[in-house]
Amino acid sequence: MSGQLTEARKRLEEISERVDVSPEVVRRLRYPMETLAATIPLRMDDGSLRLLKAWRCRYNDARGPTKGGIRFHPCVDVDHVMSLGFWMTFKCAVMDLPFGGAKGGVQVDPTELSALERERLSRGYVRAFAGIIGPDRDIPAPDMYTDEMVMAWMADEYKTITGAHAPAIVTGKPPGAGGLEGRKEATGRGAYHVLRRLEGKLGLEPEKTRVAVQGFGNAGYEIARLLSESGYRIVGLADSRTTLYDGDGIDPEKAKAHKDKEGSLSGAPTEGKAQEMEAAEFLTCDCDVLVPAALADQITADNAGDIEAKVILEVANGPVCAGADGPLTERGVKVVPDILANAGGVTVSHLEWAMNQARLPWSQEDTRSRLKEAMEREADHVWEIHEDENLSLRAAAYLHGLRRICAAISARGLESTFRR
Ligand code: NAD
Repeated sequence: MSGQLTEARKRLEEISERVDVSPEVVRRLRYPMETLAATIPLRMDDGSLRLLKAWRCRYNDARGPTKGGIRFHPCVDVDHVMSLGFWMTFKCAVMDLPFGGAKGGVQVDPTELSALERERLSRGYVRAFAGIIGPDRDIPAPDMYTDEMVMAWMADEYKTITGAHAPAIVTGKPPGAGGLEGRKEATGRGAYHVLRRLEGKLGLEPEKTRVAVQGFGNAGYEIARLLSESGYRIVGLADSRTTLYDGDGIDPEKAKAHKDKEGSLSGAPTEGKAQEMEAAEFLTCDCDVLVPAALADQITADNAGDIEAKVILEVANGPVCAGADGPLTERGVKVVPDILANAGGVTVSHLEWAMNQARLPWSQEDTRSRLKEAMEREADHVWEIHEDENLSLRAAAYLHGLRRICAAISARGLESTFRR
């Protein structure tokens, strides 16, 4: 088995060596509880048939039903899905949500599919995995290239299969189909609350802080907008095709309006003289805070030594590889880890799920205030562990989650309970 899950395990082992946690718990967390592979037959608009590889991994359910998104992407494989399920297990524990972790994916390039083909695929996914998902068992959500409408199709298909109206089967639905106003913005907004809570401790003053954001989609746009509103200067924005840099500043709302109209960030208005640069150069551009909000594995052992930023806020899942940890620490770069920084999405998903289960209405104001409170509370906990135990912020976040998972597993008894 390759890459990401091995890295995730390595990080788990490093932390478990530093704390008093039962080796039995660590052994349990090394392996996913259940991973189902399926082949989804997809009838294309031209009548041809494609067979697509798909997975759902329920990594660990010690703290509650498993929770995690579904990704449609050509690079998805079983290793990705399992490692993302591992991260979700820790993320839900860091936020003290009553969920375990899971993830799903289909190996497909969704940009090649028509809307009808995407609808058939979404419904096909639910048919393939209906036996292991459920509102009290495993609750999917959106991830890369699976949006609100995909969630609405999936909820609808589940209703067709079971005959029961169960909107809590997925979260991230459109508000008209049982979703929550405030879910879409939640990941960027949650990361914003974490940075604002920690800014003094990280030595950041908004007016003097220059921010570069890689990824100008849902999460990247929201955090850029909120930081800019609070006085931070956005100096860099990048999407999959364009990188835009201007030391004098970029207004994210104007950049978004330009992208919506022209279909590209290229030529977007900036405060001074804009500069386009190579995608690889963007990560090492002159800035104080770097926000990777696009893909995994962006900061590696190869480029970590050239990072100019003092702080990296991981809005994407896994943008900093384990090999980069050493060089970044040597340079004094603080990494606010994904399992805290991007946990706003699942935090609001929890509210959506609870609202669906309770059949209660919920306002956007309620959502925003609960999100802020949760992100600030757990950011404080992670910072405290970071200082008290002299650990990196990532190790502190893992330790925080591990303690909660450990409490759930050990409540059912460990070797010491049963040994005769
Ligand atoms: P999105 O699809 O809305 O946006 C992704 C953005 O990244 C797009 O602007 C795209 O152009 C850009 N991008 C893709 N490849 C790039 C590249 N090579 N260089 C620069 N930019 C590139 O996705 P999103 O919902 O904003 O998610 C972004 C990241 O945040 C993902 O890693 C996702 O797993 C993570 N995340 C999202 C949520 C959520 O609720 N949306 C929750 C937790 C984590």
